[in-house]
Amino acid sequence: MNTRILSTVAVLGLVAGGAAFAQQQTFISIGTGGVTGVYYPAGGAICRLVNAGRSEHGIRCGVESTAGSVFNLNSIRAQELEFGVAQSDWQFHMYNGSSQFEADGAYEDLRAVFSLHPEPFTVVARADAGISSFEDLEGKRVNIGNPGSGQRGTMEVVMDAMGWDMSTFSVVSELQAGEQAQALCDNNIDAMVYTVGHPSGAIQEATTACDTVLVNVDNDVIRALVDDRDYYRMATIPGGMYRGTDADVTTFGVGATFVSAAWVDDDVVYELTKAIFEGLDTFKGLHPAFEILNAEEMVSDGLSAPLHAGAERYYREAGLID
Ligand code: GLU
Repeated sequence: MNTRILSTVAVLGLVAGGAAFAQQQTFISIGTGGVTGVYYPAGGAICRLVNAGRSEHGIRCGVESTAGSVFNLNSIRAQELEFGVAQSDWQFHMYNGSSQFEADGAYEDLRAVFSLHPEPFTVVARADAGISSFEDLEGKRVNIGNPGSGQRGTMEVVMDAMGWDMSTFSVVSELQAGEQAQALCDNNIDAMVYTVGHPSGAIQEATTACDTVLVNVDNDVIRALVDDRDYYRMATIPGGMYRGTDADVTTFGVGATFVSAAWVDDDVVYELTKAIFEGLDTFKGLHPAFEILNAEEMVSDGLSAPLHAGAERYYREAGLID
């Protein structure tokens, strides 16, 4: 039994007049990703809005930097985290017990809260590595992502579809998301893979600290993957967003989603959801990847697990769902 489950503690304080009172506090943690990704600032933005209303609802929100989507989902299942950010493909697989989650089976208590920004599958290569398309990764030194990250899982699916395995590359590394840019610029790898919102700190680092290019990930295999699966779609990274890449980049992508579980208290999820949607304009200003968010899409896009009852209650009250 986990001891961190919504630990509710009574905190004793003194009011000005000296009378003692007890205030209930509920602690929640959000699993995110590497600090130079977008999940980590997303978690920070969510907590900022939640914590602004702490005196009314008593919820204290904290953010954890983690290995990424798959780690966050597994931690929610283990009741070690109340909330997490996760790619739409891995949300689907955990709820259905498919792909990486086949051995553990479906997690039917997984709940969707809302969706966030799009996450293109982003490949950055050294300009001197002779890589101008995704297929050119064959024979190169490639960071395929750390275990527990969404990009690692998605890269494995893509590798399978391409008929690739670890021997396809001359060197395979499993660096954390936040370590990839430096490895690229130190010439320890030729290319890095990151499923991430844009602009992100990590891609900015990789494109400004040395000469690199963003690579198209678009071929018949990728198009077939996207056609067969609702949680993938083709995606564009606008030209000019990063140094070295002036033309639009075509790839496929997923969506970042915010998830929880049925065991997390309805009132807590309700208050969190309300804080985000009532503060949506503020939220959108907290990271450039959030500028395009809109409430209607956030309650449905890329969500394959059922909505959490607390989130659903707020969406009904707000007229966002029937
Ligand atoms: N999509 C990545 C993952 O699932 C994380 C991206 C980010 O941290 O913004 O692990």
